Amino acid sequence: MATLPLSAAMERGGEREREGERERDPAARPRVGVIGGGLSGLCCAERLVRSGISVTVFEKAEVLGGRMRSDQVDGFTLDRGAHAIFRHYPEFSSTFDMDQFSWGHFGQSAGFFDGFRIVDVGNPMGNLKLVRTLFSTGVTLIDYIKIFLRYKIMFRVLGPYAPLHASRKDMPVKELFEKKLGLSQGFVRNFFTPSFQPIFLCPPEEMSSQAVDFIMTALTCGGTALPAGGVQAVVDQLARRLPDEVIRLGTSVEQISKNSIRLHGESDETLFDAVVVAADWGAAAKLVGKDAVGSPQFSRSSTTWYFRFEGKPPGSSTPHTIVPVGESMVDGVIINLAFVNSIQPAYAPMGWSLCQVTTVGLAKSTDELSLKRRLEYFFGPTVHHWDMMSQHYEWEQHQPSHLPRFDRDTPKDCKENSWMQPARLSNGVYCCGDYRAHPGFDGAIKSGKAAAAAVCEDLGIHVASASLVKPPRAYLFWLWHVMVVFLALMTTLVVVM
Ligand SMILES: Cc1cc2nc3c(=O)[nH]c(=O)nc-3n(C[C@H](O)[C@H](O)[C@H](O)COP(=O)(O)OP(=O)(O)OC[C@H]3O[C@@H](n4cnc5c(N)ncnc54)[C@H](O)[C@@H]3O)c2cc1C
Repeated sequence: MATLPLSAAMERGGEREREGERERDPAARPRVGVIGGGLSGLCCAERLVRSGISVTVFEKAEVLGGRMRSDQVDGFTLDRGAHAIFRHYPEFSSTFDMDQFSWGHFGQSAGFFDGFRIVDVGNPMGNLKLVRTLFSTGVTLIDYIKIFLRYKIMFRVLGPYAPLHASRKDMPVKELFEKKLGLSQGFVRNFFTPSFQPIFLCPPEEMSSQAVDFIMTALTCGGTALPAGGVQAVVDQLARRLPDEVIRLGTSVEQISKNSIRLHGESDETLFDAVVVAADWGAAAKLVGKDAVGSPQFSRSSTTWYFRFEGKPPGSSTPHTIVPVGESMVDGVIINLAFVNSIQPAYAPMGWSLCQVTTVGLAKSTDELSLKRRLEYFFGPTVHHWDMMSQHYEWEQHQPSHLPRFDRDTPKDCKENSWMQPARLSNGVYCCGDYRAHPGFDGAIKSGKAAAAAVCEDLGIHVASASLVKPPRAYLFWLWHVMVVFLALMTTLVVVM
């Protein structure tokens, strides 16, 4: 029988003893302060609590959620910015109990507005009627097969984070699509650009091929959806897993020094065993300095507006989401609009419609009349009867930009996902947030969990598992892929012959 070396055995014994102590006496638990109750801070706190640590989350707002918040106004659900929940984001799907949400789906198509009419474009595999409209945008069958093979087959088999692996060369996505993959200009101009500009808030020249590959893989593996209650429902599910005493709302942290925290308006400092800065980049830079958190670039700013009206959306079969084709990213331009109650009926009272409109730039770059004039191009004069709601949400730093990462300085332990930045800032101080990871809220979740793991490691505590949801059985995964590869081969054979 193999035996442990004496020192290792003693260390393990000591660790077990300390764990037993923590179970018996909560006062013996290490204390960790988390600054920021957005998705990354809550994911970090949740994993720390499961690891047996005593956690306090300080959130300066009166409500949790950060950039993923929703307001309930007169029976309408207003997300504070147009979100789409990618249910197949790897971290998201392994963290949340999907059955607890009541989902409304975006559908298999979107309306592409070419200045004259709205064309319904989408995945012809899901709806054969869409084949005709897909080709009317200039997308070819070859484009479609290449996209299918790359995202539905290759990256699915290689794994969800394969697109972000350090060994993959990053480049502007236009270069990848046009030069490397040989996709048609129709695909890039008429299909990809209008679909991805609203996600990345920048033109394709500024989009990283790695980031696009990651999002395309998640998109082709499953659609996007909105939960009843708005995107806030995502944050609320996490918050429900935390004991009440963990969260301190309306509490702004003014200063941290080493691992102590001073709250706004207080002179005393509270000492913790570790502090995690999970604030957005601007606030984090104020607390720990730009040198510590770096100076990431941000995408364009954006503003989301809401219009309500009685009855159905104009037109007999208007798609749920509409994107303009050929629009450049200048302030005031509409880059995305959605009849959100067609996606998720719980977003508006019965008999009403809610149109969510996102424009480039801050709110001052447009006004109600200019917005309605622009909307008139899409739907005609009926828009002048729509009631613009007084709530609108502007984001100066919408999300970190997804520029190609040429000068990559990938830390050794981040090869798997080269967008991840180390969680340790200095002795006892850690950091997480979407700007420390790959694009979107999946990055925020992953970065929060990574910060929890780093804290536990340094405190000598066994960290709880990162995933709460059981992954699908391995044989089902492979069975599915064998079927998909078989179908792809058959399709290619049919096309070639
Ligand atoms: C309009 C918009 C649309 C988006 N759409 C999508 C989408 O469709 N898909 C997608 O994947 N991602 C989307 N995102 C990005 C996504 O919302 C973010 O990546 C994610 O919410 C970031 O979470 P976070 O915890 O890193 O930061 P945040 O959500 O910014 O959380 C930081 C928290 O820290 C708090 N805080 C700051 N300073 C202090 C302090 N001193 N003391 C205490 N608390 C403090 C803040 O109040 C905030 O609650 C969108 C973002 C925006 C703005």
